[in-house]
Amino acid sequence: MISGFLRRNLILTLAVSGLLLVFSGEAQAQRFDRVVIDAGHGGRDGGSKWYGVAEKGLTLDLAKRLEQVLKAKGMATTLTRKTDVYVELVDRAGVANKTPKTIFVSLHFNAHRDRSIKGIETFYYPGSTEGRVLATHIQGELGNRIKTRNRGIKPSRLKVLQETKGPAVLVECGFISNRWECQRCASSWFRQVLAEEIAEGIMRYR
Ligand SMILES: [Zn+2]
Repeated sequence: MISGFLRRNLILTLAVSGLLLVFSGEAQAQRFDRVVIDAGHGGRDGGSKWYGVAEKGLTLDLAKRLEQVLKAKGMATTLTRKTDVYVELVDRAGVANKTPKTIFVSLHFNAHRDRSIKGIETFYYPGSTEGRVLATHIQGELGNRIKTRNRGIKPSRLKVLQETKGPAVLVECGFISNRWECQRCASSWFRQVLAEEIAEGIMRYR
């Protein structure tokens, strides 16, 4: 049996925690208003190249697609490169660092000398809770909906992630060293699916 005093206290506690939930929800909704999209490699740095497909071209096309999808959802975006140029890693991170309330999403395609390896994985900087949560949301969309091996999220001391102050992730969107996955990655329909799923993960994180 619960006394009147306890009941009043319980109601008060519930009311306060309800308010806190509302406030933390609002705080979360405000935590970023711009996505910095980083197309991996570029210019003299071609990234991986397999079966005549260069990583730097795939990442730039995917970055532009992701930008379009996010803009359609009302999200502001900045690209670290818009053409086939070389940009230093610190300068890529710098684009995100000079604007408050941004998240950083770096796009890459993977390669391995064992050509049977395939799948999608998302990296975050070790110890970055926000980076891990963002990675979880993006990988959750990609891993659940795209038919390939879900390689999960992984902490990694990648320089571009280390240099970025806000939440940052690096998505490896597939192994172009695997002939089957390379064919998909080289197809515009597949890059559009990647863009939509990554955008979905970003919006869920928001
Ligand atoms: Zn790469």
